[in-house]
Amino acid sequence: MAPKSCSLCQNAKPILRRPKTGQQICKHCFFTVFETEVHNTITEAKLFKPGDRVAIGASGGKDSTVLAYVMKTLNERYKYGLSLFLLSIDEGITGYRDDSLQTVKRNQQQYDMPLKILSYEELYGWTMDRVVSTVGKKSNCTFCGVFRRQALDRGAASLGVDHIVTGHNADDIAETVLMNIMRGDIARLGRCTAICTQGEDTIRRSKPFKYAYEKEIVMYAYFRKLDYFSTECIYSPDAYRGHARGFLKDLEATRPSAIIDIIHSGEAFEVKDEVRATQKTQQTCKRCGYMSSNNLCKACSLLEGLERGMAATAISDKGRRKLDGQAPTPENLRTIPYFHTPITVAIDVLPTPP
Ligand code: SF4
Ligand SMILES: [Zn+2]
Ligand SMILES: [Zn+2]
Repeated sequence: MAPKSCSLCQNAKPILRRPKTGQQICKHCFFTVFETEVHNTITEAKLFKPGDRVAIGASGGKDSTVLAYVMKTLNERYKYGLSLFLLSIDEGITGYRDDSLQTVKRNQQQYDMPLKILSYEELYGWTMDRVVSTVGKKSNCTFCGVFRRQALDRGAASLGVDHIVTGHNADDIAETVLMNIMRGDIARLGRCTAICTQGEDTIRRSKPFKYAYEKEIVMYAYFRKLDYFSTECIYSPDAYRGHARGFLKDLEATRPSAIIDIIHSGEAFEVKDEVRATQKTQQTCKRCGYMSSNNLCKACSLLEGLERGMAATAISDKGRRKLDGQAPTPENLRTIPYFHTPITVAIDVLPTPP
């Protein structure tokens, strides 16, 4: 039975059970705790400084829509002094991305933020529709992840920003910890929980939702009545991640703190120096000029494979070795897809009292 009053303010009627803590709270308190926790994550990690120009990786999905709304709210409330932009990537997926970009365009108006859209077609000469028709559905997310990472960097450069924030949430990060443990990928395990990363490129990337539960993001979007797009990509996402996700959801059902516990476990792993990935000398890609640790950047290696009709070879283990000279792991070429977390998430909304 629902308690008579919110367990935080002891005043208003509770309307939801908070997935992270099980507390039954009112809408106002939910907004406050959710936003305050994100603010605390941002300030504890010192993610921004006044004057920063920050691009929000925006797909129109729930995570990035809530991120844009919360970033705007916190920037105004706590006077972060940030200039915020929306940055969207059009992968060229008919019936999916074309519709979700309409949502981002509405968000641009609703949040009054400049929007930049970059397409794979203009950057690479390939849409994901054409990539899938060439390589099939098995490795499409590998191509998409590599292309997206570079596209975001290029979009950020054209906006003159040096920081991209993405809507990766606690569930995404806990899944990645589990996947890296299951693969024995110690080097990645050591860095997958980092809130802020700076890779081959010069653009900082961070995850203000690192500790925000997916269910709470869905609830927040629902109660704030945010305008977001909730259809999954038509090209099925990585099956291995799907297993990790299913396992995590089972754990969460038994013990809600499992998600945060797994992130904290990932953070607590100490990676010995000798197993850390060796830093390679930075150079520029001979084909496109993007920063790369090899003659060709990862996107151009994949493109060359596509153009030669040897895409399958380009992402085989042998191909991976050729691409970046690192030990081949299934994650070598794959970044976490930003835009396709499944949207069917059951949330525990209390029945409206009579
Ligand atoms: S599931 Fe995500 S990464 Fe895979 S093709 Fe679709 S948008 Fe790209
Ligand atoms: Zn309350
Ligand atoms: Zn290149």
